[in-house]
Amino acid sequence: MPTPNEIEIRGLHKSFGDNEVLRGIDLEVATGEVVCVIGPSGSGKSTLLRCVNLLEEPTRGQVFVGGTEVTDLDVDIDAVRRRIGMVFQQFNLFPHVTVTENLTLPQRRVLGRAKGHAARVARDNLERVGLADKADAYPAQLSGGQQQRVAIARALAMGPEVMLFDEPTSALDPELVGDVLAVMRMLAAEGMTMMVVTHEMSFAREVADRVVFMDEGRIVEEGPAAQVVGEPRHARTRHFLTRIL
Ligand code: ADP
Ligand code: MG
Repeated sequence: MPTPNEIEIRGLHKSFGDNEVLRGIDLEVATGEVVCVIGPSGSGKSTLLRCVNLLEEPTRGQVFVGGTEVTDLDVDIDAVRRRIGMVFQQFNLFPHVTVTENLTLPQRRVLGRAKGHAARVARDNLERVGLADKADAYPAQLSGGQQQRVAIARALAMGPEVMLFDEPTSALDPELVGDVLAVMRMLAAEGMTMMVVTHEMSFAREVADRVVFMDEGRIVEEGPAAQVVGEPRHARTRHFLTRIL
């Protein structure tokens, strides 16, 4: 049966040796929905995102993306990953090529796009993130915020159905955070399905349809941002929020 959920996570467990990092996660993200994931360091947030695009192999449980079970052993992992864009705390740009080439190389290698096509898509996406004028620059010539916007544009150039963000602004100087969040806000307004691990509570309050609080590998509390951030029900959520706000 077709599902309106772009992402479905059922009974997800992940262990590294004896360390059980995810202890039974159930979560759906509807098409076009923005879910922010918050929680203390080490609670499993990155591992959760990495299980969605199979950068980590779940120990147990199921993950569906766009109705395809990505945890099915027969699935074409590369085909699934193409549908999922991921942006990390560290921007991970290719340092030795220009901004444009950062966007065109993956399109050509992974999607087999012709040079002209890839270049057009690159230009369009650099415009979307406000960096058309940096097309010929090298990553080291850009600020951290600009590099992160290039990383977002690079992910978008692949035409993903879903975007996963893992603390995309945590490595940035405070004055550069706003431009990156503005790009993410634009994507949300355009209807992109997004899972965002972030400590930016103002972003969560403004943009998230739902906030999920994780602790020790479990979802402790979830709901609208106004509830989870504004009136948390659980002591652990309250404790976490008082430490970061
Ligand atoms: P968060 O993103 O919430 O800070 P993580 O998902 O990064 O948490 O990590 C949760 C736990 O999993 C931590 O104890 C971390 O040390 C452990 N962990 C994460 N990745 C690995 C790995 N590749 N190998 C072993 N342990 C890992
Ligand atoms: Mg993390």
